Amino acid sequence: MTATSEPRLKITYATLRNDNEQLHAQYDAGLAVARAELGGTHGLFINGEWRPAPKTFEKRSPIDGSLVGIFASGNKKDVQDAVAAARAASPGWARTAWLERVAIMRRMADLISERQMELAALMAIEVGKNRLEALGDVEESADLIRYYCDQVVANDGFDRPMGNLGDPTVHTRSVLKPHGVWAIISPFNFPMALSGGPSGGALVAGNAVVYKPSSDAPMCGVKLAEIADLAGLPRGVFNMVSGPGATVGQELQENEGIDGMLFTGSYEIGFNHVFKEFSRVFPKPVIVEMGGKNPAIVSARADLEEAAEGVMRSAFGYGGQKCSACSRVYVQAPVYDAFLEALIAKTQAIAVGDPTDKKNWLGPLVNAKAKAKYEAAIAEVTRDGRIVTGGKLLEGQGTDLYVAPTVVADLPADHHIWRDELFVPLVAVAKVDSLDEAFERANDTIYGLTAGFFSDDHEEVERFKEVSQAGVIYINRRAGATTGAWPGIQPFGGWKGSGTTGKASGGLYYVQQFMREQSQTLVD
Ligand code: NAD
Repeated sequence: MTATSEPRLKITYATLRNDNEQLHAQYDAGLAVARAELGGTHGLFINGEWRPAPKTFEKRSPIDGSLVGIFASGNKKDVQDAVAAARAASPGWARTAWLERVAIMRRMADLISERQMELAALMAIEVGKNRLEALGDVEESADLIRYYCDQVVANDGFDRPMGNLGDPTVHTRSVLKPHGVWAIISPFNFPMALSGGPSGGALVAGNAVVYKPSSDAPMCGVKLAEIADLAGLPRGVFNMVSGPGATVGQELQENEGIDGMLFTGSYEIGFNHVFKEFSRVFPKPVIVEMGGKNPAIVSARADLEEAAEGVMRSAFGYGGQKCSACSRVYVQAPVYDAFLEALIAKTQAIAVGDPTDKKNWLGPLVNAKAKAKYEAAIAEVTRDGRIVTGGKLLEGQGTDLYVAPTVVADLPADHHIWRDELFVPLVAVAKVDSLDEAFERANDTIYGLTAGFFSDDHEEVERFKEVSQAGVIYINRRAGATTGAWPGIQPFGGWKGSGTTGKASGGLYYVQQFMREQSQTLVD
């Protein structure tokens, strides 16, 4: 179902403009479709069928508290059934010619794009993203799937001839084969991109999938399952089990029928639970993508307007609730005051309110837990540093989850706010005496996801590229100091405590991770 018959617009995070009236008209039509879908009851998708669950949970919109829907709260038995279905389906899917798998997955990507406006509006209502951020998330999921399809094609299905040391009777091939069944566990903040993307990678590689959406974004999970079904994935190849991390997530971690795990979420759960506990009998592949504490560094030789715009967009886009959000800024002393002034002006100009309304750039926090984190951080900063702007709850909105984007200064260098991911719209700014000090402080964290640098000096830029300990770095990027990667343009993955494999999503080495190599030698 398309929201309008007009041609689709090409959407990325960095290139869309909010003054595009055609886009807004299409979004409004999608919003009407989305609103008509609210309030329903949704089941689990197991073995090609929708199944009701005895236990359910309500999901309400952070925008105005309205009911998004009633969703199935899966239990261990549901996960076991989904794993059994996936195991039964996986040999057939693995045998399916890779070109056919690619065709089905491309259909899935196209179905997502066809419904981009409806899906973006549903996402906005479900998790509070603004129009362009939600559209970007939806299109990113489709483009991630397309990119993995392209990679399989570019590599001839990863079935390649090897050498024979001049002996024509020996024929060896390197073949990448799927593992079998992958679990995909997703966070709330990119509910389409970080569900469709990893699932797409696992599926096009020939695996069956059991997918668990975040309980803050179950509607996106339901929609992805609907689309997988419509795309023609055989029964049991894609299964969706919504429900709590402590039951559904835990069972996925423990179930011996799962051959590989891709988890995206917090360091606390990703590293301390999933990474450490997934393999029990023998080592199994586990890809864990986690949080960030992403720095931007502003040199005395930066374009300060560009730097302030890039930092503002990355610190406050989707309320700082992105793994790539900029939460720390180190500014060289001579330009500190001017930079701070520019950042304050841009922060105070942010329009906060219902994010489905085109005039608003920033919506509510996702839930009460995030609001409690914001309030705790504000109390700490008031005590230990200085709130430069923001630092308060915003009254008169649809719920009590709207907060002011906040810039803080004068925090001691050893304060935990420089190191711990908060995931709220709060950015801390520090004055530094040298770039070396800035680089050192930027790297002084367990995380290593993204980092930004602003300078017009070539040597400084080269130095930043050399020393930065982050998987994704941006230099002089007005569209976002640390955020806004796109498949096939900026591979996206974390180093250190931000990710386990050093291979980035939307990049050249990603889809291979869902396969294992078999060397096949045949002698005549
Ligand atoms: P979260 O860790 O709270 O939850 C992520 C998922 O894990 C959810 O589906 C949750 O239900 C599930 N889960 C909870 N307990 C579990 C358990 N014991 N076993 C298995 N699964 C369990 O994260 P969140 O709040 O949804 O998302 C925000 C976090 O995700 C932030 O830390 C953010 O930086 C990170 N993130 C990282 C990336 C990346 O690419 N590196 C991208 C987006 C978000």
